[in-house]
Amino acid sequence: MIHDECGLFGIYGHADASRLTYFGLYAQQHRGQESAGIVSIDEEGAYHSYKGMGLVPDVFEEKHLQALPGTIAVGHVRYSTTGRPSLANAQPLHVNYKGKDIAIAHNGNLVNTFELRRALEDKGAIFRGTSDTEVIMHLFASELCRGGDMLEAVRRTCMQLKGAFCLIFLMEDTMVCVRDPFGFHPLSIGHLDGALVAASETCAFDLMDAEYERSLKPGEIYVASSEGESSQMLDGIPARPRQCIFELIYFARPDSYIYGEQVYTCRKNMGFQLAHESTPDVDFVMPFPDSGVYPAVGFAQCAELPYEHAMIRNHYVGRTFIQPSQSMRSFGVRVKINPVRAMIDGKRICIVDDSIVRGTTMITRVKKLRELGAKEVHIRISCPPVRHPCFYGIDFASPKELIAANYTLEEIQKKLDVDSLHYLSIDGLLRSVMHNDSYCLACFNGEYPVPPCRQCGKHQLEK
Ligand code: AMP
Repeated sequence: MIHDECGLFGIYGHADASRLTYFGLYAQQHRGQESAGIVSIDEEGAYHSYKGMGLVPDVFEEKHLQALPGTIAVGHVRYSTTGRPSLANAQPLHVNYKGKDIAIAHNGNLVNTFELRRALEDKGAIFRGTSDTEVIMHLFASELCRGGDMLEAVRRTCMQLKGAFCLIFLMEDTMVCVRDPFGFHPLSIGHLDGALVAASETCAFDLMDAEYERSLKPGEIYVASSEGESSQMLDGIPARPRQCIFELIYFARPDSYIYGEQVYTCRKNMGFQLAHESTPDVDFVMPFPDSGVYPAVGFAQCAELPYEHAMIRNHYVGRTFIQPSQSMRSFGVRVKINPVRAMIDGKRICIVDDSIVRGTTMITRVKKLRELGAKEVHIRISCPPVRHPCFYGIDFASPKELIAANYTLEEIQKKLDVDSLHYLSIDGLLRSVMHNDSYCLACFNGEYPVPPCRQCGKHQLEK
């Protein structure tokens, strides 16, 4: 199945619903750059939908927003790395079932998609794309068919899903937001002029001056309908949530507030802890922008070392992992960040970055720093070594490509050609956050809260 990193936005009861959704997606563009889509419901209950491939401002023109009338809307931005990019996988998914429109937007990765899809296909279900979301839609339709109201169907659908899912459902004039029982990915709610807003990240609320209320609880179902708002819980909620800590390390925007934590503060704390664990004797500290900036600030403050921006980012380049082949990828890194020559020659430098995945960024850029005459290069990474694949929606390389899964620290240091290398310890990472017993650390320690089914796991590993 295709592996998703996505951003969700939903709004219920606002005259400008689709325009605000557009802004909500714009703020969350970092969560997905492959496709964007919006579904709205007008006053008569008719559904309108538009989606396209590319960035939010490229997909939506004024005329498209004009054609998305109504006071209820859901939007989605999507990024996938495996499989061909395709409009069939773009979301929200909008279908008609027994004369009723249904739309679903999903963030996260299920670990039993293969089994679910096979069972559905055995009963004659037809699929257009390869995303998990189509499986969820089919299950939902089957559950509606079994009887009961929309909420019961949502509940019964969710009970069959294993893995990570934040979902926003639209049916008739009802919007339902759900967070999976482990709470793998973030989903928050707030209000704007009396309307309910829901978003993966609160930076979406800030843009429109919506008031942030709270994070949905793991396993919570939050409903907005003509009868008002209400909340209930899925059954079988585990005692401990397992929220994705990599959202705090890298994926979410630092100005967002997720899982009840300010992302910026967590990242700065990670840098602080990192400096506590290992500070080299250097002339200055510099981040690899942008991801290294926030831990580097904490690191430099804790170590009382000068902080410089000696690596400059080209903001008009997409993320380096978008490139399909390894040769293209290292070119992507060179396009993306480039050192300031005058800062490097003869200097002892400490580089702070959030993570090393394949090692492409580090290898390529350290080589350049050496060419420019750096005397010493020390690397400090604000998360532990990423040694295991993520099955829940963070796109890492396959284990074959993950540098820390294949080499010892000494070997990595040698490969990177650096004078020293230190990764933040798991203890240090947990000291950097407030709710430290609620996180999934599977990419560091291999302890998977929900084991993937054999085929899904195999697919993921073969990526
Ligand atoms: P690499 O060059 O493969 O070692 O990638 C490392 C860089 O990619 C880090 O500096 C991160 O900022 C960024 N990164 C980390 N995790 C991811 C991810 N899941 N998707 C995209 N980029 C990532």
